[in-house]
This record gives sequence, C-alpha cells and structure tokens, in this order.
Amino acid sequence: MTFTLAIVGRPNVGKSTLFNRLVGKRLALVDNQPGVTRDLREGEARLGEMRFTVIDTAGLEDATDDSLEGRMRRLTERAVEMADACLFLIDARAGVLPTDEIFADILRKKNAHVILAANKAEGKAGEAGMIEAWGLGLGEPIALSAEHGEGMGDLAAALAPVAEEMASRPSPEPETDVDVDQGAPRIPTREKPLQVAVIGRPNAGKSTLINRLIGEERLLTGPEAGITRDSISLAFDWDGTPTRIFDTAGMRKKAKVQEKLEKLSVADGLRAVKFAEVVVVLLDAAIPFEQQDLRIADLAEREGRAVVVAVNKWDVEAEKQQKLKHLRDGFEKLLPQLRGAPLVTISAKTGRGMDRLHAAVMRAHEVWNRRIPTAKLNDWLAEMIAQHPPPAPSGRRIKLRYMTQVKTRPPGFVVMCSNPEKLPDAYSRYLVNGLRENFDMPGTPIRLHMRSQA
Ligand code: GDP
Ligand code: GDP
Repeated sequence: MTFTLAIVGRPNVGKSTLFNRLVGKRLALVDNQPGVTRDLREGEARLGEMRFTVIDTAGLEDATDDSLEGRMRRLTERAVEMADACLFLIDARAGVLPTDEIFADILRKKNAHVILAANKAEGKAGEAGMIEAWGLGLGEPIALSAEHGEGMGDLAAALAPVAEEMASRPSPEPETDVDVDQGAPRIPTREKPLQVAVIGRPNAGKSTLINRLIGEERLLTGPEAGITRDSISLAFDWDGTPTRIFDTAGMRKKAKVQEKLEKLSVADGLRAVKFAEVVVVLLDAAIPFEQQDLRIADLAEREGRAVVVAVNKWDVEAEKQQKLKHLRDGFEKLLPQLRGAPLVTISAKTGRGMDRLHAAVMRAHEVWNRRIPTAKLNDWLAEMIAQHPPPAPSGRRIKLRYMTQVKTRPPGFVVMCSNPEKLPDAYSRYLVNGLRENFDMPGTPIRLHMRSQA
C-alpha cells in the first residue's frame, strides 16, 4: 500500500517547485473530479525507490478574492485530511513568518503527521531559518532546495517510516464518501478509530475482556483480516469512541496448536503493539508480573505506545487494599520505564471497572498526542535548571539553552545543549520525570534528545 503526501505552506515557499521535481511529468489530472480535489493538484511522485501520491496546495495564491487566508486554510485542511502525511514547507531564507505559524496551527489541530522542511536552504543564506524552524515545535527540519534538488535523500529518509507504517496498517475502513463514477477517487475519511490492543499472558482474561467491551450489539463490523493473514481486529463503539481493537486472543484460538502457545503469544503481542495507539497490558491479579508480562509491557514502551495497565480478576481478590499497594510497588520496581502509567483494577467477568478502564485509555491517548507550547517548556526548563543545575565536568558547566517538543505519539523533546555527550543520564531522567509530573503525562513514553547547538 502506498501513501499520500500533501505539500503545504504559505505562498512562495516553493511548493510547486518541489511538486514538479517529485512528479516530473507524471501528473494526474484531477481537475475534473468533483468536490474535494477541485483545487488541488495531484501527481504520482518518485523519490529514490519510493512511489507515492503527492498533493500540491499551491496555486491558491492565484485567488483574487479577498479571502485569501480563508481559502488557504480550507484548502490546506482538505489536503491534510486526504493525506497520510504532510510536508510543511517554510522558506529558510525568510525564516519563520507569522503566516507560517497559521499553517503550523492547522497541522497541529488536524493532528497531522508532519514533516517539516526549510526550503531554499542551498548555500549559507538558509542557516538562520533552519534554526528558527525548530521553534515551530514540529520536529527536526529538513534542509531542502527544491530548485537545486538538495536534501532529497533526507526527505526520502523522513518519508520511509510513513511508507512503512502504511504498509503495516490493516486495510483501510470501507470509505464512506467515495465517488462511484470517477474510477477510484481516494477521499478517505480521516477520522480514524482509536486503535487499542489488549496484550497479556494466556489466561489473563483477554477474550473475556474483549467480549465484555464489544458485546454483540455494539459490534459495528464483523471480524476482518488485519495486518497479517491471521490477525484479527474488531471495530466497535466504546462508550461513544469509535474504536478498533486488536484481538490477539482470537488469533490464538484460531491457531489451536497448544505447544505453540507460548511462542505465539509473544509474536502476537508484538504485532498487537505495532498496531495499537494504546496498549492495555492485562495482568492476572493472582499472578502479576510474570516474565512474559514484563517483556510485553517493555515492548510497548520501546515501541512508543501509550500504556494502561489493567489488573484483571479483581473480583476474586480478598485483600484488595494490600494487593494494590503490592502491585504499585512491583510495578515501579519492575517497570520503571513505565513510571506513572495508570493502573486500573477490573473484572472482565463481572464488568467492574470498565468505566475506569475507558477513562484511563482515553486519557493515555490524549497525553500521548499532547503538545506543550515551546514558551511553556522553556519557562519550565529554566526552573528545572535553577532548582538543580547541570554538572560542570572539568570546570565548564553544561548549558541547556533551549527546548522544544519535536513530536507527539509519543511526545518527543529536543534540548539544545552545549555538551550533550557529557550530560549524565541521571540528568536526562530528572528532566523526563519532571516533564511527567509537571505537565501531568501519565501512561506515555517520553523521548528526550540532547542536541549540540550548531
Ligand atoms: P509556491 O507558491 O509555494 O508553490 O512556490 P513556488 O514553487 O512557486 O516558488 C516560489 C519562488 O521560489 C519561485 O521563484 C521559485 O523559483 C523559488 N524557489 C523554489 N524553490 C527554491 C529553492 O530551493 N531555492 C531558491 N533559491 N528558490 C526557490
Ligand atoms: P485469555 O487467554 O487471556 O484470552 O483469557 P480468557 O478470557 O480465555 O480467560 C481465562 C480464564 O479466566 C477463563 O476461565 C475466564 O473465565 C477467567 N476470567 C477472565 N476474566 C475474569 C475475571 O475478571 N474474574 C474471574 N474470576 N475470572 C476471569
């Protein structure tokens, strides 16, 4: 499965130039398509080995009406909705202008997968703009020159994960507003369901939980083939949230081969984790923290998923309070990387705790997607440094100059640092723990990168 990339940005940053470079003569005529794509140019792009569809939002500056901004906004929003990822261009020579911020806002609100590029970066004139681009909080900018064809390798590298992700996605939902008479227009509905996986050892209660959640009457579609031949995901409405749940239990039952059970469940877990936005790690209250549970939870963290821990079979637990304390302690000790992840006690059998599970999953998903404004982060950083300054190896204090959030899902941050290789890990942990506490971010991995300032 290929993917669609929208090139967005204010007029004159070089969108058309880049579009033409990517597409060459392979331009698809979309002008006669009704509705959505009327103003958007679309073409088949080629970049190294990669093939994808590219949408160009340029041409809107031809608009002579007085509502240029509104038009720009609408067109960009539509392109974003149609695309799997957006390439947001700014002009490296001009730096970040207020109009660029408007586009950055649109992209954030739409929760788009954004690749930021500073175009016209050939030569020295683009350097200042590159540094400014960091401040948009949309990740590490790629230096491009659409006109001279520079930076195309970096662009390809940035697109590779998108291509990979699309290849591993389950086949798309049946699309709602498809035009029948125009061949195969691709106007996907971008309201993707929340993707959840329940993972855990055999017998933890996964099937029971999934049955409890879905229930016959709430099932929107039947089982369908998923990521691999034998994986199953189910769509349902979870108290008002369109949700797709990855059913590892169903897979296991399909396999039926008892001896393979242990091995299979780890592989299932991995697939489920890759599929999910939020992973529910299901533990059996009677035997929590088995080796396998720990491995699976660790996997979820390493893959950068939001994590909620659900302790099942709480109905049979006699000493609930004591048990809970024991669980929390064990959790902190055995899975420090998931510190602060929500822990919910449930009974899949009786249905107790389902509301709390729903709330915890929604919350973890929200935090996983959260973006903290750069100004707030830097105020916070100043305070953290004041409270506990970084060390001064061989007499020169390490300086942390600037911080910005470069991605979400999970949240990732970059700190510009005078001597990153000398900063002790303990200091990074101090910052990560601080972020988690001060910005209230339970249930999500946090990535923090130190970069030396150019
Ligand atoms: P759009 O309005 O965003 O589609 O921008 P265009 O593609 O029409 O480009 C606007 C202007 O910037 C044109 O004069 C291009 O020749 C110029 N331009 C585009 N890319 C580059 C580049 O990489 N370097 C330089 N120096 N100029 C560029
Ligand atoms: P899976 O292998 O993880 O899919 O686990 P199942 O859903 O098949 O459940 C394994 C066993 O645990 C079954 O006998 C269930 O009835 C039982 N079970 C599941 N959830 C609960 C629960 O909340 N309380 C109790 N007491 N038993 C449960």
